[in-house]
Amino acid sequence: MPPVAVFNDSSFLTTLDDRDWRSGISEAVKVALIKDASFFDWIEANAQALATRDAATMDYLIHRCAQMHLQHISGGDPFEMGSSRPLDFGHWSAHKLEQLTNFELRHGEAVAIGIAMDSLYSYQLGWITEHDANRILTTLRTLGFSLYQPMLDANNSTGVLKGLAEFREHLGGQLTIMLLEAIGRGVEVHEMNPDLIRQAIATLKEQEQQAQLV
Ligand SMILES: [Zn+2]
Repeated sequence: MPPVAVFNDSSFLTTLDDRDWRSGISEAVKVALIKDASFFDWIEANAQALATRDAATMDYLIHRCAQMHLQHISGGDPFEMGSSRPLDFGHWSAHKLEQLTNFELRHGEAVAIGIAMDSLYSYQLGWITEHDANRILTTLRTLGFSLYQPMLDANNSTGVLKGLAEFREHLGGQLTIMLLEAIGRGVEVHEMNPDLIRQAIATLKEQEQQAQLV
């Protein structure tokens, strides 16, 4: 049974350090990207305020997420038992990256990287524009996330790519990955090209190195 009620206590948030504060926000970016372009626009416009821990902005973010989650749950598959698991966007690599870094990366930090990778991958397929891919990456960076981690391309990315196979097993045999066909619109695929994944990782690495030179 789904719960009768869920309570959000915003005073709890004040007890979090900056990394944990930020980590929750990547899940909101995820939901906005797959379901609601206007919510993404709002996050993009308020990324700086969220990064500097403005309480009212965070309250609104949580409220919108709760609303969207309620809609999702009342959509008929509260435990995501079907093959479609839209809320897994950005997660196939994130789960693996957490493990590869011995959980040095927080879940939300890994999800931010996973979102960046799968957004770039969607761009490489020609599904979202370069402009939109850059908006997503810039918003994540403004929120304070680092979008590259050395484990991403260690051993020609074999570690991360293993995450794809593990994700397939976790789903019970058939791979279903959520990608983007626009900001605010997710679309499912059943396979991913390892070379394109490596290309997305190379882009993230290059951008990280350029940022450090500035
Ligand atoms: Zn998550």
